[in-house]
Amino acid sequence: MQQFELKMLPWNLVFGAGCIESLPEYLADFGFARAVVLATPEQRTDAEQIAARIGARAAGIFAEARMHVPIETAEAARAYASEVKADCSISIGGGSTTGLGKALALAPGLPQIAIPTTYAGSEMTNIWGMTQDGRKQTGRDLKVLPVLTLYDAKVTINLPTAMSGVSAMNAMAQAVINAKDPRTSPVIRIMALEAISALASGLPGVMANPQDLAAREQLLYGASLAGAALGAGVTSLHHRLCHTLGGSFNTPHAETHTILLPYSVAYAAPAVPAQMEKIAAALGVDNAAAGLHDLGHKHGLPSSLEAIGIKAADLPRIAELATETAVENPRPVTTAGVLKLLQAAHSGAAPTEDVINHD
Ligand code: NAD
Repeated sequence: MQQFELKMLPWNLVFGAGCIESLPEYLADFGFARAVVLATPEQRTDAEQIAARIGARAAGIFAEARMHVPIETAEAARAYASEVKADCSISIGGGSTTGLGKALALAPGLPQIAIPTTYAGSEMTNIWGMTQDGRKQTGRDLKVLPVLTLYDAKVTINLPTAMSGVSAMNAMAQAVINAKDPRTSPVIRIMALEAISALASGLPGVMANPQDLAAREQLLYGASLAGAALGAGVTSLHHRLCHTLGGSFNTPHAETHTILLPYSVAYAAPAVPAQMEKIAAALGVDNAAAGLHDLGHKHGLPSSLEAIGIKAADLPRIAELATETAVENPRPVTTAGVLKLLQAAHSGAAPTEDVINHD
């Protein structure tokens, strides 16, 4: 038996279509009387509906959440929360809005109730991020974990199909990376495998019919477990590459994960064959990397780095940047190996092991 440590986070979750209807009771249970409702400008109406639902317990709405939590946005939200004397936040939105709630949880320390409307899974992690002068800083702090998360698939119905697809694949990446990594505890790997099955079963239904509530529920359940795997698990070469591309080339977050995942998996595959079989079984396919590639293709999701504006001439620089400092990965990471991986991902070629085999 493998030796392992298991540190679970104190998650407090409610699943069920319509569960946000009980929001006033949840607030009363916590003794919260003045909630600031957070959203992006695009989801202001969602925030207004939440405020109307909780009536006198709504202290105000701050609908200026932005991707990667610019420090200026966090400061403006803090000033607003102080002005309206908020005692908690309710975030309704994707990772950007949850991220703003996390900034308020860090300082001045407002507890957050999260209502996720994408599959980013940030609500399950103790990871915060904030951007200052173009640089994103991240850290882990238990304070930022929401005190309650309400998974109500009804609030995800309006997430556009294309965004639903890449967001689900972003969750898939969190699950797959942890399902394959020997550093992750066996318990978290079980959660990650369950996430993979739920995401693979929900995705086709949502792509065929965005109003399919049962499929939406599968995706939310999978996203929650995938976020848990990220929150209590590890990151590896895949996250390093996504971070490098997002940070230095400003590529879109979920799309970058979607494109790179099959190649990161193919890269690691020779080192962890038993885990690859389990991932393939959870996906219902013969080969994990090829199955992930096909899943994206079948649903018209972006499948090459070229499609998101990366030039072939940039690949050596990206490989250098990504390997500047050591990165833990099931298979050792070399600059030459990463370059091969990136070249395959750039063209969108099938991620067979010999495409990225650098030995
Ligand atoms: P997002 O939150 O930026 O949302 C993208 C857009 O979709 C926004 O305009 C949003 O208002 C809109 N939207 C969201 N849900 C909608 C819905 N149901 N209907 C209609 N429109 C909707 O995107 P995201 O991918 O959820 O989050 C990305 C951010 O989350 C990144 O900054 C990423 O770094 C962060 N993230 C953090 C963690 C963590 O653990 N800290 C984990 C995952 C992602």
